[in-house]
Amino acid sequence: MAAVPVPFYATRPDRTASGLGPLMPDPRPPDAPATFHVMGKPTGAICNLDCQYCFYLAKEELYPSGRFRMGDDVLDLYVRQLIEAHDGTEVTLAWQGGEPTLMGLDFFRRVVETAERYLRPGQHVLHTLQTNATLLDEEWARFLAEHGFLVGVSIDGPPSLHDAFRVDKKGRPTSERVLRGLAVLRAHGVDYNLLCTVHAANAGHPLDVYRYLRDECGGQYLQFIPIVEHVPQQAHLAAVTPRTVTPDQWGHFLTTVFDEWLSQDVGRVFVQTFESAVAAWLGAQPGLCVFSETCGNAVALEHNGDVYSCDHFVHKDHLIGNITETHLVELLASQAQRHFGSQKRDSLPPYCKSCDVLFACWGECPKNRFTTTPDGDPGLNYLCEGYKTFFHHVDGPLRLVRKLLSEGKPASSVYDEFRTAGRNTACPCGSGRKTKHCHGRPAPGHPPAR
Ligand code: SF4
Ligand code: SF4
Repeated sequence: MAAVPVPFYATRPDRTASGLGPLMPDPRPPDAPATFHVMGKPTGAICNLDCQYCFYLAKEELYPSGRFRMGDDVLDLYVRQLIEAHDGTEVTLAWQGGEPTLMGLDFFRRVVETAERYLRPGQHVLHTLQTNATLLDEEWARFLAEHGFLVGVSIDGPPSLHDAFRVDKKGRPTSERVLRGLAVLRAHGVDYNLLCTVHAANAGHPLDVYRYLRDECGGQYLQFIPIVEHVPQQAHLAAVTPRTVTPDQWGHFLTTVFDEWLSQDVGRVFVQTFESAVAAWLGAQPGLCVFSETCGNAVALEHNGDVYSCDHFVHKDHLIGNITETHLVELLASQAQRHFGSQKRDSLPPYCKSCDVLFACWGECPKNRFTTTPDGDPGLNYLCEGYKTFFHHVDGPLRLVRKLLSEGKPASSVYDEFRTAGRNTACPCGSGRKTKHCHGRPAPGHPPAR
């Protein structure tokens, strides 16, 4: 069974579920996806911070009288349904928010106990948690290590860049608290990923951000997520907030980090966008839903059992049901959810359908498709130009990866080609240009090639 493409780094390439036959009666209807992912939000959108770009903050309005805490009855039902619906050996129980650690450690103790109660012989659970890390202490870290949690920590680069938008409710910087939480995780050997949003403040500093996450934070698994804040009142104008990364910045950020990664880190640092691109060039399934042809297999579960089509579409129009009334897997298989997923492909404008990098991009996430194509058709992704830049830039190296594999060499041998390439010799990607003007690692003090 393949890992389901998800919006976040909730699973690892070496942690995919391998199929065992069903061990219990299978509750799945025929249209149910073979595998799926649920993001549990035990505090709904509630968070202890006030990151200025956070799209969750407005979601509190969906539940005006709500208590925003998942009760034990919903927890029990959710864990049971999730485990029932998986016939593989591994079940991922993923929590995010808001800020899930606001639930307190006892909630997560109950999560672990509940999962143990429902696991079938041969099954095990991978617990994951996405957090801002500011509330983590020794006791948390011991618990997370003991139960093998994979923890995603949100951090936007060095303090001066992180603190531009990631502030608390009093507007104070948070980097110190995040780094303290990360340090305690590292000290206890907790498995962690780093999730970095890319926005107007840090987009112009790709190498500072990447090297900081890699060298200072010890990040081996990184994810970069573009901040795109569409101003809804002006939908027809495709207006965005000043915090939003521009398409040009996004393309430049990705290509610059890619060149550093290609010549320094292939095989030892995993950047999810790059892993998805490699998969696309090899004709394999990408790990990220945004680069898949269709989506719809990664839903969001609210504190009260409500299930939404996607964490980016927690809106009453995309509420597909509640697990206290309908089994989770039936909601995944519902016509509304299947339609949601296929619309990612079916709503692409003709401009995308004839694009030479469609196979890798697939119009990215529908939430960002609010601009018009050069032909005047609606539904083009706001970041289109950035993605074109990135995917064209990686074409040469990833063709080389494909060639090396066909010669029986490991994909990681591409690293040797670029690491040893002279700056003034022909770029190994085959473009005919000098490496320093193509895929060379930027020299210290020099701007990267664009
Ligand atoms: S709408 Fe689809 S592509 Fe976008 S984040 Fe959700 S599941 Fe992924
Ligand atoms: S690069 Fe642009 S045109 Fe091509 S598939 Fe992506 S969004 Fe569409």
